[in-house]
Amino acid sequence: MSKCVLCPNMCRVDRDTAKGLCLSPSQMIINRAALHFYEEPPISGARGSGAIFFGGCTMKCIYCQNYLISRYPQGKTYSPLQLAELFRKLEDEGAHNINLVTPTHYSDKIKQALNLYRPRIPIVYNTSGYERKEIIRSLKDYVDIYLPDFKYSCKALAEELSGRPDYPDCATEAIAEMLAQKSNRYDAEGILQEGAIIRHLVLPQELDNSLGVLELIKQNFGNGVTLSLMSQFTPVPHCNRLPRTLKPIEYKAVVARAQSLGFSDIFTQELTSAKPEYTPSFDVCK
Ligand code: SF4
Repeated sequence: MSKCVLCPNMCRVDRDTAKGLCLSPSQMIINRAALHFYEEPPISGARGSGAIFFGGCTMKCIYCQNYLISRYPQGKTYSPLQLAELFRKLEDEGAHNINLVTPTHYSDKIKQALNLYRPRIPIVYNTSGYERKEIIRSLKDYVDIYLPDFKYSCKALAEELSGRPDYPDCATEAIAEMLAQKSNRYDAEGILQEGAIIRHLVLPQELDNSLGVLELIKQNFGNGVTLSLMSQFTPVPHCNRLPRTLKPIEYKAVVARAQSLGFSDIFTQELTSAKPEYTPSFDVCK
């Protein structure tokens, strides 16, 4: 950690004394840890996913649905031992899995926590997709399920909306490593035990980007992967660039293209999913 290179930003700062682009200190900041029921059905199941929301983020999406904690990391600080205790607590509450939400900038500490206590339930790595493949390789024995976003096919859009023009290349390499590590395996109740689901949040007015993402996924990974096409985009107050929810015609066009490209394992959402429950309430100082 003395020269942090945990994500493609490669800031090389000492996070004990300085901040990199994620604005996150070396000690973990966790804002919320609770059972969460709004992931894909094989992740949430009936009992919920044990979601742990880390403060801070390695990207800077202007429309971030969790901006209250991603832009200005806030929450309680946790040591690896305290995180291990949180794993045990969520497991005792009946969670189907431990769902690490935006974990990239703390992957080193998460590994330390998992070395202290390995839950009997799967570990889910729920990431923006902006990852270094070398770091994903190092997680092979720690993570059971990858839940990566694939946000952009267009570098200019990735730069405009998230400040990361290298996103398409980084996400492609990282997801290739995830898929090489894990194949989908479900238990008798249909809960995912190991594997990967590639998520794409369809953005209003950006149909070409979404169609390009589907093309990139097919080109690089084939059409046998599991997709989750998300319609839950909700405008955030400070972002005039994307001021509305998705129109049915936009979402239907993306789902139809996925089907025409031969993807058959697809999770879809109702357009009514653009509602507050999908964004958890965070503990923030406003
Ligand atoms: S995790 Fe943070 S400090 Fe480290 S390279 Fe990424 S943005 Fe920079």
